[in-house]
Amino acid sequence: MKPTADATTARPPLGIGRDLTGRMLFLGTGTSTGVPLVGCGCETCTSGDPRDNRTRTSALLGLPGGHLLIDTTPDLRSQLLREKIGRVDAVLFTHDHVDHVYGLDDLRPLCFATGRSIPLHCEERVENRIRKAFDYAFAPGPPLGGGVPKVTFERITPAPFELLGAAVTPLRLRHGVFDVLGFRFGDVAYCTDTNGIPDETWPLLAGLDVLVLDCLRLTRHPTHYALEESLAAAARVAAKRTILVHMAHEIRHAAVAAMLPPGVELAVDGLEVPLTGLGRPSPVT
Ligand SMILES: [Zn+2]
Ligand SMILES: [Zn+2]
Ligand SMILES: [Zn+2]
Repeated sequence: MKPTADATTARPPLGIGRDLTGRMLFLGTGTSTGVPLVGCGCETCTSGDPRDNRTRTSALLGLPGGHLLIDTTPDLRSQLLREKIGRVDAVLFTHDHVDHVYGLDDLRPLCFATGRSIPLHCEERVENRIRKAFDYAFAPGPPLGGGVPKVTFERITPAPFELLGAAVTPLRLRHGVFDVLGFRFGDVAYCTDTNGIPDETWPLLAGLDVLVLDCLRLTRHPTHYALEESLAAAARVAAKRTILVHMAHEIRHAAVAAMLPPGVELAVDGLEVPLTGLGRPSPVT
C-alpha cells in the first residue's frame, strides 16, 4: 500500500510545549556535579526526598517576547523534557564555566522547531569559550551528519539592555578570581555563582520581590557563598523572597530548610515564581 501524502510530507509537530509567560521556572538548582553526586553514599545523595535531586543550575523566563533560557547546562535536554518546554527564543549566559555552558548542543532541536538561529547573549569570555568548545558549530562548509546548533552571538556589557520585550539589568558579581553576571528583570534578580557582590551592584538590588542567590554549602568556599554568607547578603538586599540555588550535597533540603529565617527558602528543580515589575525601567546606579 502506498503511504498517504500526510505520512510522507507532513512536518513533525515541533516546538510543542508549555507557555511560561509571566513566570520564571527553575530548570536546575544544583552545583556543577549535580546532586546526588555520582558514587556518594551521604545522607543527601541517598535521600528519598525528591527535593534532594538537583540538576545543574539554570532558569527559564517567560518574557513578553518569548522564552529566555539562562545558561545551557549539561542537563539541558533532560530539564526541557521534564518541564515540557519546546521553545527557547534566546539564551543569556552568566559566565563560561562548564556547568553553565556545555549543554549548548542540546539547543539543536529548538532550532529545528523554528528554522532560525538562537541568539546567545553573553560577554566576550563566554563567546570565546563557546567558539572553542563547540568549534564544529562554527566551521566553514556544511556539517557532516547530525547537524549543529544554529546560534548567533549578541555581545552584552554591564549596561542595561532590552531582550524579548523586557528591560534587563546586568549585575556584576565576583566568582572567585573572576567576574560573572547576574541579571535583574523587573523586580526579580538572578544571582548564581558568586561569593561577592561588589559595591556598584548593591543599589541595583533594591526593592526586589525575588532574589535568586548562590548558596553552595554550609562551609566556606573560594568561589561560592556558604549559607552564612548567603543569609547575610539576603538580609542586606531584603527582597520579599530570597531563593537559594547552586546547592551541593552538603545541603540536605529538609535539614537546611528548617534552619532558614523567614523570607528565605531553598529552590527545588521545577519551582516556578511570578515575574513582577517587568514594565518598570531599569534601576539607575
Ligand atoms: Zn556553576
Ligand atoms: Zn553526597
Ligand atoms: Zn561558576
